[in-house]
Formats: sequence, C-alpha cells, structure tokens
Amino acid sequence: MPTNRQVLLRSRPQGIPRAEHFELAETPLPPLQPGQFRIRNRFLSVDPAMRGWVSAVANYSKPVGIGEVMRAEAAGEVCETRHPEFAIGDRVTGYFGWQHYAVSDGTNVGWRVPPDFDLPLSAALGVLGMNGLTAYFGLLDVGQPKAGDTVVVSTAAGAVGSCVGQLARIAGCRAVGIAGGAHKAALCRDEFGFDAAIDYKGATDLDAALRDACPRGIDVYFDNTAGAISDAVAPQLNVGARVAVCGTASVSSWDPWPQGPRVERHLLVKRARMQGFLIFDYQPRFDEARRRLADWVRRGLIRYREDFLDGIDAAPDAIAGLYRGENLGKRLIRLDPY
Ligand code: NAP
Repeated sequence: MPTNRQVLLRSRPQGIPRAEHFELAETPLPPLQPGQFRIRNRFLSVDPAMRGWVSAVANYSKPVGIGEVMRAEAAGEVCETRHPEFAIGDRVTGYFGWQHYAVSDGTNVGWRVPPDFDLPLSAALGVLGMNGLTAYFGLLDVGQPKAGDTVVVSTAAGAVGSCVGQLARIAGCRAVGIAGGAHKAALCRDEFGFDAAIDYKGATDLDAALRDACPRGIDVYFDNTAGAISDAVAPQLNVGARVAVCGTASVSSWDPWPQGPRVERHLLVKRARMQGFLIFDYQPRFDEARRRLADWVRRGLIRYREDFLDGIDAAPDAIAGLYRGENLGKRLIRLDPY
C-alpha cells in the first residue's frame, strides 16, 4: 500500500508564501468510506491566488489552516472507488490539494474529463482550466472587446495573459502585452501573436512605451497586476474603455493596505468602466467556454506554454517563484513520469 506525500501549511506568511511556510509530510492512505473514491494526482496547479488562500486577511475563501494540506487544483485519475458514479481510470480535476493522493465524495470535482478528450491532461488545469476560463470570461464578458479595439493585458506571457492576447486577436482587436523581460515580450509577439509587447522591467519610460504600442489609445485593459503598470495604463484609456480587474500580482501584501494614484478622474472623464470579477461566478457557463477554447487550441488559434516543476518537493517554493516571474506560461507540479 503506497503512502501519501502531502505539502502542509506550516506557518502563515506575511505577503508572499515561501518554501519555509510549508512542510512535506508522509501519511498512510486512509481507507475509503462508502460514497468515496481516491484520486491519484498527476499534476498540481500553482497559482498566484494561493497567496490570498494562506493569508489571514479577509478574502473570497476561508484561509487554509495551519497543518492542513495546501489547497490547490489538481488533475489525476481515479485509482480506487466506493462511489457508484466514479470508476477506476476516470480522469478528473478539482480541489484535491498539493498531495499525491486525494479522497473525494465528488463534491470537490471541478471537471470530469471526457474519455474522448484528445488534449494533454495538464491542459485541463491551464488553458482549458481556471486560467483559460478566466481569460475567456474576463475578456469577452467583462472587457467586451469590439473588432478594431486596442486590448492591453498585463502578465502577458503567463497562463491567463497569453490566452487573453490570443482571444483579443480572435476578436479582431489589436493585442498589446506587458510582461517582465525581453524574452517574455518576444514570446508574446512571436509565439502568442500579440501585435506589440512591452518589457516593463526593461522599459525606461513605460508611459512612452504604452503610447508607442497603443497609438489609438486603450479600449480594454485586462488588469492582472494593479500597481505601477495599471497606474501607467489609466491615463491612456479611451472614452468608453473597459477595465477588467482580474488580479493584483504586483501587490506583495495587503497589510498594510498599499496606497497609489487615484483612478476616479480618468474613469469619469473617459466615461470608462472598471469591473472586478471572480471566475467561480461563471461556473454554469464553463462547459461552453471549454468547448470553444478546446476548438481554438485544436485549430492552432490559441497556443499555450506550460512550466513544469518535477516532483512534489518543488511545490513549497513554487508560489514564490511565480512572484519572481520565473514561469513561462502555466506553472504546474508534475508528479511521477506521466
Ligand atoms: P501567471 O501570469 O502565469 O504568473 C504570474 C506572473 O505574475 C509572473 O509570471 C510574473 O510575470 C507576474 N508578476 C509577478 N510579480 C509581479 C510584479 N511585482 N509586477 C508585475 N507582474 C508580476 O499567473 P496566472 O495564473 O496566469 O494569473 C495571472 C493573474 O490572473 C493573477 O493576478 C491571478 O491572481 C489572476 N487570476 C484571477 C482569477 C479571477 O477569478 N479573477 C482567476 C485566475 C487567475 P512577469 O515576469 O511578466 O512579471
């Protein structure tokens, strides 16, 4: 009987969680109760949002408790079952945590991967998982792009951002990405087909770089960072612009609450709309989005990159690595050869 390897939250970080805030544990596999099944995880997701999940500061979900398995999405297959609707070999994604094996009664399953799914299982966590769905609804529903619009997105070489840029192109827009480093900016242009990309770390004058990349101003801003990047975008919004507030990757801590320029004047003068969104609210429409995203991926209209770290021992430092900007595309922990 194999044992489980798990990553537990050891202490609560102030700001970005680092390796020392987690510990690895080896535990026996508990026997299954009627109505339960066991999942062998193959891929564990690493997400910027995990910073919020381990923070005691009020968030949209209950903080992970000290000593608990780190909350995470994962993809794997059913390896043991006492549940009438889940058979051995079924592939599933869900909140199964940073561990090799998870027990479920079905309520934390996010997606039952269809048997005829012809894309890699890892894609079920990225471009066809939370990241692709976030790009889809954040851009198309909140950003409401029209053909000819200029769409700007931050963290453009990342899992969500790279998909946003390609969806903007599919919608007939000019796509402009903002990413950290010349290599990431080049990737946005050459691999993801952005019309222009700005390296915000290398740019000496971000305002001027944005003006050059967006000669007709900015109609949609997909905001993944807040902070200095978003401060530079606000004055260049067009009349009627839409700002989709998706993430705040540049803010390392909300305690104390950071201060910044006031955006209201720009919104008022430009009659612009700024709207936050959480992907969970779109759950009833996930199947529709997955179908369309998968079709675009198969036709080569959406490309994606995955950033694999091998083995669960890599998990504790993996969130801090995201905030260091190490990842190209969707960061995943790959368990065992798969
Ligand atoms: P990702 O973009 O693949 O990775 C995070 C990226 O954040 C890093 O690669 C880094 O890119 C950037 N970053 C880190 N620190 C930064 C800083 N100080 N300033 C600017 N950029 C910084 O991650 P993802 O999973 O696709 O998520 C992207 C955003 O979407 C995150 O803000 C996340 O919280 C948000 N999100 C929101 C929802 C929702 O429901 N609203 C759902 C999923 C994700 P660079 O090297 O380019 O700096």
